[in-house]
Amino acid sequence: MPTPHDHAPRAPLAERVEQLLTADGPLPIVAAGDPVLRRDTEPFDGQLEPALLTRFVEALRITMNAAPGVGLAAPQVGVELRIAVIEDPASVPEEVRLARGRVPQPFRVLVNPSYQPVGTARAAFFEGCLSVPGWQAVVARHAEVRLRAQDEHGRTLDELFTGWPARIVQHETDHLDGMLYLDRAELRSLSSNEAMAERWTQPTPRRAAEELGFRLP
Ligand code: ZN
Repeated sequence: MPTPHDHAPRAPLAERVEQLLTADGPLPIVAAGDPVLRRDTEPFDGQLEPALLTRFVEALRITMNAAPGVGLAAPQVGVELRIAVIEDPASVPEEVRLARGRVPQPFRVLVNPSYQPVGTARAAFFEGCLSVPGWQAVVARHAEVRLRAQDEHGRTLDELFTGWPARIVQHETDHLDGMLYLDRAELRSLSSNEAMAERWTQPTPRRAAEELGFRLP
C-alpha cells in the first residue's frame, strides 16, 4: 500500500547544518557527480541563526585549510546556500607570483556573491577543484572582476579583484550557480596531478598549450 509520502521530506537547512557540525574537524567534501554541486543555491537570508552561521563559516574555513585549498563553497559540503569562503597564503615562487598575480588573499566570507567582468582582458591558467580531486585544467577567466556580496555580518562588499584572487572569486561564485570549473575549461589541457608535477610546473600554460594542442586567449 502506498504511503502518503514516497520520499521523506528533507530536513530544514538549519537542522542539516547542525547535524553536519556535530563532528569536530574538517567536513567531508562532496565530489563531482553529486547533484548538490549542480543545483541552484538559496540566497542566504537568515536561514541559519547568527551563532550557527558563525560555526558553519568556521567549519568551512577549517575544511578549506585542511584540504588544503584557497576557496570552498557551501555546496561542496552538501549545503545549497549562497555562501563561500576564500583564503590564499600564496606561498609560491616569485616568478609564479608575477606571472599569475598570485598575491596573498586574506580570509573572507562571501555571502550572496555575484561578479561582473571589468574590461575584456582574460587570463588562462591551470586550476583545480577540491570536488574534482586529482585533476587540473586550464581555464580562461576574466582578468579583473567586480564582486558584490555581503560579509558574514551582513555588511555590503563591492570590490575589484585582479590576479589570482579574481580567479578564486569567479571559481567559488560559479559553484553557487551549480557550475564547476570544468564547464569553462579547455578540456584538452586536462592533466592529472602527476602530469602537472612532472610537466606543467612552468609559471604559464604556454608549453602545455603547444604540446597538448589547445589555444590560449
Ligand atoms: Zn571548486
